[in-house]
Amino acid sequence: MDHLRMVDMEFYGYTGCLPEEKENGQTFVVTVDMACNRIPGAMTDNLEGTINYAELYERIKNYVTTSKGNLIENLAYNIGGIVLDYSDIPDSVKVTVSKPQAPVVGMFKTMETTIELNRVQESGFKHSVVLALGSNMGDKEQYLKEASKRLMMSGHVQIIKAGGLYETEPVGYDDQPYFYNTVLDVKTDLEPEELLNLTQKIELDLHRVRTIKNGPRTIDIDILLYDDITMDSDRLIIPHPRMYERAFVLCPFKDIREYDGPVPEDKSVKFIGQFEF
Ligand code: AMP
Repeated sequence: MDHLRMVDMEFYGYTGCLPEEKENGQTFVVTVDMACNRIPGAMTDNLEGTINYAELYERIKNYVTTSKGNLIENLAYNIGGIVLDYSDIPDSVKVTVSKPQAPVVGMFKTMETTIELNRVQESGFKHSVVLALGSNMGDKEQYLKEASKRLMMSGHVQIIKAGGLYETEPVGYDDQPYFYNTVLDVKTDLEPEELLNLTQKIELDLHRVRTIKNGPRTIDIDILLYDDITMDSDRLIIPHPRMYERAFVLCPFKDIREYDGPVPEDKSVKFIGQFEF
C-alpha cells in the first residue's frame, strides 16, 4: 500500500458537547492518512495522478471550522467522507482528530479519536443528495434538528454539511407563522423513491398535518437534487421544480453548493446562524 498523509493540520472549530465549546471554540488537530493501492503519480510523475493537498486542505478546513456537531468521532467520520469523495485514489482513509484543550480538569496531552473508512465499505452511500427542510409550527429549530437526527438514525443517510438557518416569510398562503428553513448536503444508499418514502415517513412521524396547500407544517422535507439526475414521475420531480424560484431554498443552498445563478430578491429571508444538526 502507498500512503499520502496530511499530518497535524490545526484548525479552530466549534465541535463539542458543551455549549461553551460550540460558543467559544477550540483548537482541533487533524491527521489524514490515505492508503492507496498505487498512487498513479508515483509512476507517471503527473500531478493528475495524486492528491492536490492544497485543495483537499481547504475542504477539510471549511468543514472543521464551520461544523458545530457534538462528537469528534462524527467530525472524523465526515472528514473521511470528504476525502473519499474528493478523489478516487485512496482506497481507505484513517482520520485522527484531537482536542488538546478539551474541557477536562486534569493533566493530559490531548483527547483524540481515530476513525477508519474503507471505500468498499462506505461505497453504499454513493448518492449525493441535497434536501431542503422547513418548519413553521411549534419549536421550529427543534423540528429541523429532529428531522435531521431521524434521517441519520435511519442508517441510510449521512449528513455531510448543513447550510445556514434562515427565517423566512411564508410563500403561497400568507396567514401563518414565519418559517425556519435550511438545507442538508447528504449521502445515501437509497434510490430516489426510497428516499422519498423515508422523508415522508419522517414528516408523518413528526405529525405533519396536510390541511391547507402551502399551509403551516411541523416539518417539510423536499429532495432538491439527487446526483445529477433529472426525473419526472408520479411522485417525484428532480431537480425540485420550484427550487430556483425560492430565495428561502437558494440562500441556504448557496451555503453548501457552488451556485452562480440568480436568487430571487426576497428581503424577508433572514440569516439566523449556521444550522447545527
Ligand atoms: P410538499 O407539500 O411540498 O411536501 O409536496 C409533497 C408532494 O410533492 C408529494 O406528493 C411528493 O410526491 C411530491 N414531490 C414531487 N417532487 C418532489 C421532490 N423533489 N421532493 C419532495 N416531494 C416531491
